[in-house]
Amino acid sequence: MQPWLLVLVAAFGSIPACAADSDPSRADVKALIDRMKTDGASIPAASPSAGTPAPLACPDCSVLPVVLVASDLSEAAASDGVAKFVTALKFVQAWYLSQTGKTFAILPAETAASNLTAGRWIALSCLTATPDERTHNPPCDQRHFNNGRPQSRYGYYQEVEQEFKAKHPGNDDQKRRFIIAVFAGDQPNVWLGAADGQAYAVAAPRSTSVSCPAFKDDPSGADPLCRDSVYGIAHELGHSFGLIHSCEQNLYPKVGCENSFMQAKHPPGMVMLDGERELLLKNEFIHLTTLDENPRRTTIPASSRTEFGL
Ligand SMILES: [Zn+2]
Repeated sequence: MQPWLLVLVAAFGSIPACAADSDPSRADVKALIDRMKTDGASIPAASPSAGTPAPLACPDCSVLPVVLVASDLSEAAASDGVAKFVTALKFVQAWYLSQTGKTFAILPAETAASNLTAGRWIALSCLTATPDERTHNPPCDQRHFNNGRPQSRYGYYQEVEQEFKAKHPGNDDQKRRFIIAVFAGDQPNVWLGAADGQAYAVAAPRSTSVSCPAFKDDPSGADPLCRDSVYGIAHELGHSFGLIHSCEQNLYPKVGCENSFMQAKHPPGMVMLDGERELLLKNEFIHLTTLDENPRRTTIPASSRTEFGL
C-alpha cells in the first residue's frame, strides 16, 4: 500500500493518490472519492455526509502509541523518548478535543526492539528529503544515498510498518490505530519520514526527542520543535482517521485550507476545516468527550515490550 506523505515532504514531489482500502472508518471518504472519479470534480460542496449512516459506537476504538527502539540502544534508554512522544500525542489529543468537542482515546505506550541501528534509522528518515535539503540536515549522511538520489522516499515508513507487522503478526484489529515512532537516541533534528498507511501512522524520530507542554497550559506548543512534532502526529493521525490534504480535495469547502492541520500549518494557528471536523465526528475513533476517560487496555499479545503510563 502506498503510504500518505507528510505535506512537508510532499511539497518536494507528487502526492500519492488516496489509497483505496476497505477500512470502514474511511468509508465516507472513499465513497466520495469514488464518486469524484466517476463524476469528475463536481462533488457538491459541504455535503460529504449526505446519505451516509452514522458509524456504530466503538468505545474500544483507541490509538496505540508504539516506539521502535534502535538495536544499539536499550529500552531503558528509550524510556525518556517514550515519555516525550506521549507528551506530543497528548497535546494532539487535547487539540482534537478543542476543535471537535471529541477526541481519540490513547492506550498506554509500548516499545518494541528494532532490528536496525540508530544510524540506519536516521538514514532512512533522511531518504525522504531532497538532496538539497539533506545538506541542511546535519544528521543526514550522504553516504547512504546513491549519487544523491533517494532510494525510496518512503523508506522510513516502509521499514517501520514492516518491523511492526513482524513483531505483532495479525495486528490488523479494526479497533486500533497505531502511531509509531522510532527512538534513535536524542535526535531533535531528525524530522523527516512521517507518513500514514491506513492503520499505521508513523512519526519522525524527532517526536521521541522533543517534549511538549500540556495543551491546557500552552496551546501554542511553545517550542518550534514541539510544534513540528505535534503537527506531524496530528496530520498523520488525521490521515489514519480518513482525512486527506485540505487543499487537494473537493469533498468540502477549501476556504482557509492553507491553515489546516491537514495541509502544512503548524501550531499556533493550526486549524481544522469545518468539513474535516464533520468527517472526524463521524469516525468511530473520535468518541472521547473528556481527557479523563480511561481507555481500555490493549489486547495485543505481549512480545518484547514495556508499557509506560500516560
Ligand atoms: Zn499528508
